[in-house]
Amino acid sequence: MRQISGRQPREVSQAVLLQLLKAVKDELEKRKHEREEKLEPGNENQDRKFARLAIEEARKSVPENDDRPHPLVGAVVVKDGKVLATAYRGEAEGNHAEYITLEKKLDDAALVGATVYTTLEPCTTQNHPKIPCADRLIERKVARVVIGMLDPNPNITGAASVRLAPNIASGLVRAFEGVLANR
Ligand SMILES: [Zn+2]
Repeated sequence: MRQISGRQPREVSQAVLLQLLKAVKDELEKRKHEREEKLEPGNENQDRKFARLAIEEARKSVPENDDRPHPLVGAVVVKDGKVLATAYRGEAEGNHAEYITLEKKLDDAALVGATVYTTLEPCTTQNHPKIPCADRLIERKVARVVIGMLDPNPNITGAASVRLAPNIASGLVRAFEGVLANR
């Protein structure tokens, strides 16, 4: 008798715990969904246009003098349907495309509500004292980050969206796929 009543509460609490875990999981899934929906503003043509522009920028990327492969990267900053700045990796020596747009070209611009199109997910790690591009995007309060491809380095693949998630809607967008598929 004692044994049973001693076991019962444990079983109940485990069930409750599982229920809670499921609720948390559902909530996270729901939020993820909401973010994805936010990322589809119903103007896919506009996204496609700016994605294409980012790819054109990426093609100009400057090779780096080491033996490691570096993905081509282009970035386009858009606000109210207008291009505020474009950049490609290395346009300013040794700098990432997003950094060049945000800090070199749009240092004084208000970017609240802007969309950044980038062919590669923004970096989340940088050698000190450089600040990762993902953190700069958060700092500048852009609204959306539209990403062409995830970083091929498996250690950091997808890290940008996780970093941006509390503040910025981000994700891979079909617009890029459309552009790439059409080539
Ligand atoms: Zn970067």
